[in-house]
Amino acid sequence: MESKKVFKTVIFDVVGYCNARCPYCVTGANPGASKKAIAVDVFEQTLVRLLDNGVIEKGAVISLYCWGEPLLHPDLAGLIGVASKLGLKIGLSTNGSVHVSFSPAMVAGLDHIMFSMPGFSQASYDRISRLNFEKVRQNISEMLSECRANGFRGRTWIAYHIYQFNLHEIRDCEQFAGKLKVDFNPCIAMLNEWDQLQGWLKGRLSADQMRKISEDLLCFGIRPEMKNSPANYYCPQFDYLIIDENANLLVCCQTPKSEEYQCGNVLRDDLDVVLQNKYTRPVCRGCLDTGLAYYINHALERPKFYQPYRSPSLVNRIYGSLRWRILRFLNRTKSGTEPQ
Ligand code: SF4
Ligand code: SF4
Repeated sequence: MESKKVFKTVIFDVVGYCNARCPYCVTGANPGASKKAIAVDVFEQTLVRLLDNGVIEKGAVISLYCWGEPLLHPDLAGLIGVASKLGLKIGLSTNGSVHVSFSPAMVAGLDHIMFSMPGFSQASYDRISRLNFEKVRQNISEMLSECRANGFRGRTWIAYHIYQFNLHEIRDCEQFAGKLKVDFNPCIAMLNEWDQLQGWLKGRLSADQMRKISEDLLCFGIRPEMKNSPANYYCPQFDYLIIDENANLLVCCQTPKSEEYQCGNVLRDDLDVVLQNKYTRPVCRGCLDTGLAYYINHALERPKFYQPYRSPSLVNRIYGSLRWRILRFLNRTKSGTEPQ
């Protein structure tokens, strides 16, 4: 029975808000929607209930993000401390706009850190998150140094969100990642806000919304990817537990937090029923039938047009230099100039 399976991936939105204003994200597009951060004791009770009922096991990684900025939580140290006490690890995804000092105890509880970037210039940041790009760059460098100095050895990476206007900045960000010795994962920025995505698919957005999307996002792959969906596709989101700042279980990372897309409350409701609800939400039928689920689960993959930069080998560099010198010598000989 599905409800008794052990979940390896838990995504826990510990705050329902974000200081960025990304227009294609459910949080950024609705800045007034939630101002709530989960209390540390409620976070602990939620995890204890999942552990006691065998829904998760010790060693699981609790990723503190979905559509909120976890570094804005007033007691991040308390959350990480609770997870460590329960034998769990914490994953973080941040926009890098807030500088948090990570103590050795906090670092010991971390599994991974992901930094999301919507470009590599203030101009790109002004179009999407409206955060201070230089401050973000500085925070990322400093927090990484501090975490490493305190013993952090987990995986770190930059998730670079590709828009039309930041294609030429990919290499700059890749070099930045190289200097920091973190992985670089570019992916095509998505139309994340569920209603906007539905509106775009059904042609129901205003002319102004369509114009903005057509100037910002790369949408060419959405419909072809939906058509690629195999019959009887199994949505991998069924294997993830997505919990919001009120301890409600949500259908998935993509759907909104409103009641229509909730499966029940992990603390208050019958846990078996809550977990069964995850597989029977009406939204999933249409999402699977249209191929949208297939697109959503492949959207964050590295695009085929991106080729990682490789510095030329020593042999190639010597060959290039010699070739250039010989050509210059021949040109000058032809024009009667003495070679230098
Ligand atoms: S995409 Fe990330 S950084 Fe932007 S508003 Fe949403 S949660 Fe914040
Ligand atoms: S089928 Fe669609 S709505 Fe349902 S869990 Fe998968 S991605 Fe989410």
